[in-house]
Amino acid sequence: MDSEVLVVGAGLAGLSAAFALARQGVAVRLVAKVDHTTSNSYLAQGGVAAAYGRFDHPRLHAEDTMRVGRELSYRPVVEMVTAEGPALLQSLLPHRLFAVDEAGNPHLDREAGHSHPRIWHAPDGFTGRALTQWLWEAVTREPLVTVERGRVLQLLVNQGQVVGAWVMTPQGIFPRRAAHTVLATGGMAGLWPFTSNPETTAGDGLWLAFEAGAVLTDLEFIQFHPTVLAWKGRRPAQLLTEALRGFGAQLVDDQGRRILADHPEQELAPRDEVARAVGQRDAVFLSLRHLDPEAVRHHFSALAATLRAMGLDLARDLLPVRPGAHFTMGGVLTDEQGRTSLPGLWAVGEVAATGLHGANRLASNSLLEGLVFGRRSAEAIARAPRSATPPAPLGPAPDPSRWEVPPELSGWLDRALSVFRDPEVMDACSRWLAGSEEKVAGQLARLVLEAAQARRESRGAHFRADAPRPSERYRGHFLHQRERGLWFVPHPEPYASWIPRLHQLALGWS
Ligand SMILES: Cc1cc2nc3c(=O)[nH]c(=O)nc-3n(C[C@H](O)[C@H](O)[C@H](O)COP(=O)(O)OP(=O)(O)OC[C@H]3O[C@@H](n4cnc5c(N)ncnc54)[C@H](O)[C@@H]3O)c2cc1C
Repeated sequence: MDSEVLVVGAGLAGLSAAFALARQGVAVRLVAKVDHTTSNSYLAQGGVAAAYGRFDHPRLHAEDTMRVGRELSYRPVVEMVTAEGPALLQSLLPHRLFAVDEAGNPHLDREAGHSHPRIWHAPDGFTGRALTQWLWEAVTREPLVTVERGRVLQLLVNQGQVVGAWVMTPQGIFPRRAAHTVLATGGMAGLWPFTSNPETTAGDGLWLAFEAGAVLTDLEFIQFHPTVLAWKGRRPAQLLTEALRGFGAQLVDDQGRRILADHPEQELAPRDEVARAVGQRDAVFLSLRHLDPEAVRHHFSALAATLRAMGLDLARDLLPVRPGAHFTMGGVLTDEQGRTSLPGLWAVGEVAATGLHGANRLASNSLLEGLVFGRRSAEAIARAPRSATPPAPLGPAPDPSRWEVPPELSGWLDRALSVFRDPEVMDACSRWLAGSEEKVAGQLARLVLEAAQARRESRGAHFRADAPRPSERYRGHFLHQRERGLWFVPHPEPYASWIPRLHQLALGWS
């Protein structure tokens, strides 16, 4: 055994898990493609959602999450995460990660879909950077944590149990054995051509889990962020945080007319609706011209500086925007501790489908999810009995070339699996994919497409031109598993009873 636990990914979820494990005396190997700075977590701008103060309550946060999730969020998980959020964030207050007022209370922003201001944010607005940097420094100080730069190419499976992974490092490809493996590899939105995600966010963990035999769900729900700066040549594209709209920014067309003037929530409508409103027009701009420029530049100082370096003035310019691939709602099906359907394998953060996000993630709920599930999985692993499974017999090292992304893939994803989905284009994409399935990214795209084709309705981030409304018949989840293929179960079946039943069947999976 190389370590007790192998954590894959150095975003907020992986770092939280590694830190909490080390604090409980568990030896961890933390593997990441690059360091913590190349992750969605590091790029997060808005903040972390948690109820605070006498006008808000976790119950209200839970109701907003349920409403925005379009009847597919799993209430017990929603209530658990929103209830644990406030104490968790308050425990971070002494580390000066969040903007506070003179009395030491957090300064809270408002974002789309939230009925109250409850977004805890860094003083300069780049909250992901502040949290991830702080946790990275804490983790790398822990003597029980070994950090390794490398890419996991395949999980090691022995007698149905995950016992580590093959890791490609700059020195070669090595097996890393562990009693528990925690996937914290983020989502897959980096595969789309216009995206807020780095290239490293390519769905690796989803495929690793699927290939090993774990169950995935809700893959058709890809969130498109409505206000990504339409600026050539930047990858990832520059996000213009939703907190700007919470601050009063408006979305206008090329005639200066507000495009959401008739919506009851205007610019703070849920993200799926705003993305469609922006996506159906040729030219849309985010405008803060009517606001006090000094207040704008002060409140969003890091973003203002980033835009200044691109020759743009956040407070004065009309900023061209379009929806960009942003977040993966589905993932590896887990229970409330992050256990997957495979013994020895855990999934936390964006790679996981915990039931929190349903068909449409509520803004700023994902950093919170990473923090909550990172810690919960660590506590459950630390309590779990040590496995007596003998070491896996090793086959040959996996071939890294199957991880190359076919160059045409992103164009097909853009045409077939974007904000608006057309059945004929999806069929054409399916025919093209048939010839590119020797690559992992092609096979993963096939899974997403199958679920999108099967869901003949529109719900949350999944919008089909031929079925523009939700249908009660599809109020449920499409699941994928290697042996079983694709199947559908009504909500909340996979979260409420399916995963716990599997754990009972897999003796020793505690
Ligand atoms: C621009 C932007 C702004 C955002 N703003 C917010 C916000 O304000 N609030 C909010 O709640 N959410 C926000 N989000 C979403 C949020 O940042 C992510 O959902 C969250 O950070 C995911 O964290 P994670 O730890 O699961 O994954 P990530 O932070 O993406 O980390 C994944 C890690 O896994 C590693 N990895 C991947 N594959 C492999 C492999 N095969 N082998 C080894 N390592 C691997 C990567 O290198 C990386 O270290 C934003 C996202 C983006 C892109």
